[in-house]
Amino acid sequence: PEPPSPEGLDAARRILTERFGFRDFRPGQAEIVAALLSGRDVLAIMPTGGGKSLCYQLPALLEPRLTIVVSPLIALMRNQVAQLQSLGIPAGALHSGNSPEENRDLLRAAAEGGLKLLYVAPERLVRPDLQAALRRAGIGLLAVDEAHCVSQWGHDFRPEYMRLAEIRAELGNPRMIALTATADTATRGDIVERLFADGPDGAAPRIFVQGFDRPNLHLAMRPKERAPRQILDFVARQGGASGIVYCASRRQTEELAEMLNGKGIRALPYHAGLEPADRARNEELFLQEDGIVVTATIAFGMGIDKPDVRFVAHAALPKNIESYYQEIGRAGRDGLPAETLTLYGLDDVRLRRLQIEESDAADEQKRVERQRLNALVSLCEAPRCRRQTLLAYFGEEVAPCGHCDLCQEGVTLVDGTVPAQMALSAIARTGQRFGTEHLVAILCGDESEAIRRFQHDCLPTFGVGRERPKTEWRAIFRQVYAAGLIAQDYARHGAWTITPAGKDVLFGRQGIEIRMDQLQARDRKSKGRA
Ligand code: ADP
Ligand code: ZN
Repeated sequence: PEPPSPEGLDAARRILTERFGFRDFRPGQAEIVAALLSGRDVLAIMPTGGGKSLCYQLPALLEPRLTIVVSPLIALMRNQVAQLQSLGIPAGALHSGNSPEENRDLLRAAAEGGLKLLYVAPERLVRPDLQAALRRAGIGLLAVDEAHCVSQWGHDFRPEYMRLAEIRAELGNPRMIALTATADTATRGDIVERLFADGPDGAAPRIFVQGFDRPNLHLAMRPKERAPRQILDFVARQGGASGIVYCASRRQTEELAEMLNGKGIRALPYHAGLEPADRARNEELFLQEDGIVVTATIAFGMGIDKPDVRFVAHAALPKNIESYYQEIGRAGRDGLPAETLTLYGLDDVRLRRLQIEESDAADEQKRVERQRLNALVSLCEAPRCRRQTLLAYFGEEVAPCGHCDLCQEGVTLVDGTVPAQMALSAIARTGQRFGTEHLVAILCGDESEAIRRFQHDCLPTFGVGRERPKTEWRAIFRQVYAAGLIAQDYARHGAWTITPAGKDVLFGRQGIEIRMDQLQARDRKSKGRA
């Protein structure tokens, strides 16, 4: 990270300690504050509880003009305002929960320069009369909380967020900071495009990703052999602690609970098909008592705050990398060590792909979902530290953790430069416009209709990979992707493009090692991992 501008940051640090009473910045806060103070726009991505609010509150207090904070949740606005007021900072919130008089008084206070921060609900901020009044008051900073609401890929899409770029111009083009805990690349792309694309000086925002690492979680993933046996072994090692086993189906939750109970481990199923009373009781028992294992579909865990969940297992592959992160994240909220184990098999991957293809989502959404699933599959097959691979997906760089299965056990790597070059060459020779299946078909010399139509049977790469089964080629593509040699362009139907690192391998300036066990696991599934 570049060194922050000193004077402004010193002032921010003084406010942090003297006003807020905190000893020091949390990771990322200083860099974000410094970027805003130096006049840049910012997109800040931090998990819930990471300390996003201070990132705009400190600059707001150093800014002579008013700061507007857009937030979709009234309860959240009220909390923040109450907290700021308790520190003697003049702040207010404009929303439909106030009386008209309250809102009028707030606006008058803002116009008279009597407020530092004004929280505004998005449906209010779209009103032209309010925009005009705020512009007259003079706006120095616009903070957009829960910025993922601008993306249609998320669950919280708010149409008013689509108009924030335009509203910013109406407010006289103040600096802007957008904040969210949603880290996936598709949503991030939407935020940049929709909130910042038409910024006043055309400069891209500085993007900060921070704090997604959960060092107390031990990460492990295994090819699925016999799931019940593997789950039992794992749970039995946990010394009677509380934990969650995520299952692929209602039936599997029932079967695993029965199996565990038969082995003397207290287990309760949890899924949407249970009677509400049973579901509530099982949840209550899990929260109240120690040493209960819940075997659950994803219906479990959403609103559950049990800090001492000591392990999370997946009896089947999660839906995608975001779900994986969320679900393992339910372990070890107290910060003490917690274990995770994720089982994955080719059948799971196939099922997840089918679920995407058969959903009635829009094409664009399906493309994003495919990308999220591919990222998870790459994590399963990662050739090095899982934490590094996982956090790289979120855009965070860390050193090898020493606290995951791959760091601890290592993996057998073989030189994969030649097959990687074949894959890269197939991508290059077809103009970086095709996805895995078509490229694998070229490498394996398929005489399909699509191949003939594009005359790809005339390419020098046609059929050069015949000696490998398609499953191996797919695994090679995933590993080449995991190694950062190719990137998927979801705006172009999931076509693979070659990164600068990929060019180095293609032209023989660099080699690449791949995991041979992953290739073999697919052919000899029952023999276990190498
Ligand atoms: P987020 O919006 O990212 O979910 P908040 O801004 O609400 O997180 O901060 C979460 C908690 O962390 C709050 O109680 C806040 O006061 C506290 N916090 C934030 N920054 C710091 C800091 N630098 N030092 C100590 N506590 C902090
Ligand atoms: Zn590691």
